[in-house]
Amino acid sequence: MIRLLTGILSCLAIFSACSSPDNLVTDGHSDYKIVVSEEALPSEKYAAEELQHYIEKISNSKLAIIEKADEQEKLIYVGFKGVPANVLKDLKPDEFENEEYIIRGDKDHLLIAGGGSRGTLYGVMGFLSDHLGCRWYTKAVTKIPSLSSIPLPQREDRQKPALEYRNMNWREMLDTSWVLHNRVNGMRVGNALGGSYITYPFVHTFYQLVSPEKYFRSYPEYFSEVNGKRLGEKAQLCLTNPDVVKIATATVYDWIREQPEANVFSIDQNDYGNYCTCVNCRAIDEKEGSPSGSIITFVNRIADAIHQDYPEVKLQTLAYDYSVDPPKNVRPRENVMIRLCHYQYCSSHPIAVCEVNRPFYNQLKEWEKIAGGRLTIWDYLTDFRNYLMPFPNFGSFSQDVKFYADNGVKGLFNEGDAMGGGEFGELRSWVLAQLMWNPSQNAQQLIDV
Ligand SMILES: [Zn+2]
Ligand SMILES: [Zn+2]
Repeated sequence: MIRLLTGILSCLAIFSACSSPDNLVTDGHSDYKIVVSEEALPSEKYAAEELQHYIEKISNSKLAIIEKADEQEKLIYVGFKGVPANVLKDLKPDEFENEEYIIRGDKDHLLIAGGGSRGTLYGVMGFLSDHLGCRWYTKAVTKIPSLSSIPLPQREDRQKPALEYRNMNWREMLDTSWVLHNRVNGMRVGNALGGSYITYPFVHTFYQLVSPEKYFRSYPEYFSEVNGKRLGEKAQLCLTNPDVVKIATATVYDWIREQPEANVFSIDQNDYGNYCTCVNCRAIDEKEGSPSGSIITFVNRIADAIHQDYPEVKLQTLAYDYSVDPPKNVRPRENVMIRLCHYQYCSSHPIAVCEVNRPFYNQLKEWEKIAGGRLTIWDYLTDFRNYLMPFPNFGSFSQDVKFYADNGVKGLFNEGDAMGGGEFGELRSWVLAQLMWNPSQNAQQLIDV
């Protein structure tokens, strides 16, 4: 029995030695070349340069970048363009979503390719971080390992982000290189670097849709009626006034022409209370049980008009402050997204487990029911009264990201200290970036490593 076992073990050892995995780099030398098609996107060519740059940094081996290859050569294919069928095998590039990628090693080649404008670039970032251990913690602090040999990956690694929109506004992360390496897609980067998820103009846009400077003097009825008086500042619009709908719609048409690449156009209440209580707005809000009633009705009217000319364009509106409760009857159109704000809550505990968070939990579930697949979240992850004060909420927010993803949320904006210097801003930004891509990761482990 012992002899038999010894025999098996020696066979395994021989098998293991015979099939030792190929290396991309061995003892600082490499026979591999990086191939990226002449027709590849600029972001894919940039991805090839990034790969070349970091492989050299890691292993002292500079791989040539070529546009056309002899299939006999050892190759790292970057992007799907020009990849031969025997390398693609079962893969259908058209089925890859924007940002989805595959890393697949096979005999004498490696494929890193993805969908849309960012898939291939994020695939290279994924290879460098998940496979080789590179970390871009902050603008100034990175960890690039030194390896004399780099193995050819033996497993297929296909990934896409849990959240389509991933953003935050800590000053520490406002850096193109940082957001690219950490795959945060909500900060503007140019198309040559894969572009970004654009929310245009961004938030609190009612006065941009209908300007009080331009209209209030002649048409006070376009603006909020509060306690019987029309307000031209620090308030909202009269959402049931047909001219307001008309002017706001025309503004959205202008925005679409200005920013045709935007993913969503924001039709957002201002950052004040003072919503309109005129007889028509009030009638809707009372029937709907929430001021979100007149907001969704208003946004739907614009959405119906826009849809005729731009069926692919999406609008987005806030559920914030006085509008966090969803309406009882009216439903956001298919081209209307909802950005729900995690407005009042206990930050000591995750959403799913604390009674103080129960109202928000219920709001999220109800909005998800009526805007399924079109819900994003605006969260608040610092102490806005004192940015320097310790705000020990790592344990809660790290679980909340997973809670959002598990409950159908498509995007997350984390409002932090935009001034800079707030408590653990860099650490928060880095941990959040990793979790928004893959919320199954353990936040404490990310911090400890
Ligand atoms: Zn009104
Ligand atoms: Zn609590």
